[in-house]
Amino acid sequence: GCGICVHKCPFEAVKIVGLPEELKEELVHQYGENGFRLYRLPQIKQGKVVGILGPNGVGKTTSLNILSGNLIPNLGNYEKKPSWDDVIDYFSGNVMADYFSKLRDGEIKTALKPQYVDKIPRVFKGKVKELLKNVNEDISEVASLLKIENILDRDVDKLSGGELQSVAIAATMLKDADVYFFDEPSSYLDIDQRLEIARIIKDLAEKKIVFVVEHDLAVMDFIADVVHILYGSEGAYGVVSQIRATRNAINSFLEGYLREENIRFRPWKIEFTEHPPKRSLELPTLIKWPYIEKKYENFKLEVEPGEIKIGEVVGVVGPNATGKTTFVKILAGVIKADRGEINEEVKVSYKPQYIKPQYDGTVEELLMFTFKDRMSNSFFLSEVINPLGIKHMYNKDVNALSGGEMQRLAIAICLGLEADLYLLDEPSAYLDSNQRMIAAKVIRRVMENTGKSALVVDHDVYFIDIVSDDVMVFGGEPARHGIGKGPYPMREGMNLFLKNVGITFRRDGETKRPRINKPGSYTDREQKEKGEYYYA
Ligand code: ADP
Ligand code: ADP
Ligand code: MG
Repeated sequence: GCGICVHKCPFEAVKIVGLPEELKEELVHQYGENGFRLYRLPQIKQGKVVGILGPNGVGKTTSLNILSGNLIPNLGNYEKKPSWDDVIDYFSGNVMADYFSKLRDGEIKTALKPQYVDKIPRVFKGKVKELLKNVNEDISEVASLLKIENILDRDVDKLSGGELQSVAIAATMLKDADVYFFDEPSSYLDIDQRLEIARIIKDLAEKKIVFVVEHDLAVMDFIADVVHILYGSEGAYGVVSQIRATRNAINSFLEGYLREENIRFRPWKIEFTEHPPKRSLELPTLIKWPYIEKKYENFKLEVEPGEIKIGEVVGVVGPNATGKTTFVKILAGVIKADRGEINEEVKVSYKPQYIKPQYDGTVEELLMFTFKDRMSNSFFLSEVINPLGIKHMYNKDVNALSGGEMQRLAIAICLGLEADLYLLDEPSAYLDSNQRMIAAKVIRRVMENTGKSALVVDHDVYFIDIVSDDVMVFGGEPARHGIGKGPYPMREGMNLFLKNVGITFRRDGETKRPRINKPGSYTDREQKEKGEYYYA
């Protein structure tokens, strides 16, 4: 073990326990002879949002594909052509038999928002309006709900990730269905948009059956009424655990232990503190910037003067298209500001938001090529390489890595390089909840142990909470005029940020994790009155 996590975390514990004997009877699908196996299915709950929470590669998407009718499960008989009749037989006496027979007979219609929205431009050429009208002629209400009216005439291949996500959600909602599936709806969206789509999806569930796969725990907590945790071994098998109330599910998830199943899937707890971190005011300054200005054709960024201290981690929050990446690039020296000079001779290591692999070789070769000496440094191996699960990808070609693997590799390389300031732009993208919490902890521990500083842009509130000592807050008018302020102490910064988006958080009594308040609830109104948006 590495202290943060055991080797092959989070699955090792499960492997030692082994697959419970009684589950062997409940194999729902197997992809080929040595292929991935899925045990059990999520339950159908009328009028509720059913959340699906779990690591990458344990069958979340497979479950949605089965429930949506896109994949007929083979019940483990991978050599035989699967049929709905066999499935209905298998589930006889169970509500699922009725569900699948209605699905077979077309009495239940389903709509699925796929996980990978970046693939949409490859399968659809044309304008947003055309894509949506193919689903339903009457697009105006949904377009207004998702705030995509201004991009209806845009070509689909000219959309940003966030815009593609909103269009994909709109297309799913436009379909007249009985059951809706949203596979990772928050990817590429900022917190404001995440909450907005969460509200829309919750409303939909008043009349329909809704399933959501989500890795942002604050969003999952807000959106889901009940949650199935999936656990297992990536690419080998997955088990759908019993349904739980959302609060219990997320608390169990943070605990790393499923009491009812007696399964420990992480040897340590993920912890939050009720109070903002204590600041060491005496820390010396690492880098200081004056008023900064950067203009593009349609966009102007202004950043107020600020500084990063030695040994601190600064989180950066704010809506999409307000200049966060532009500011990081200025600090990284990738682009030059029009006004404002940063004088300090500070060595930076930069992980960009969009990572494009350009290396022809394996992961291990790339690491050896980048920093051979680091690869024999025991601190780096035990605090970065192991917890990020990099060893399991040593023999893979860099070009063949999944989004989540590429992200973890990029974080490891960024942290392995010698620098004074580590800049990480959206490190939680493509990572599952567990990997996010691990990555946040890894970044913190590296800075604590080396006395170096980091600036981390992210939209996941739990990630920002764990990683940051201080926060910078970006705001303004997206895609026109961005304004960066801070760094502020956590309390002040989170108040400023959340006031802008109109969201308050309370703390969970047991785990102290932040929980989004229901808009307009007593607690929400009370906290807004007090001006305490994050630490009540
Ligand atoms: P998740 O959504 O939890 O990340 P998936 O359901 O997408 O997981 O996939 C679970 C595992 O099933 C994957 O690791 C992959 O190995 C395997 N798998 C998924 N789709 C297929 C397929 N069409 N053929 C063979 N194996 C597949
Ligand atoms: P964020 O990281 O907050 O999402 P960015 O810094 O990426 O924001 O972008 C801010 C705005 O600047 C966006 O509207 C973007 O389209 C625009 N922009 C970014 N880079 C360029 C560029 N090289 N040329 C023109 N516009 C740009
Ligand atoms: Mg950005």
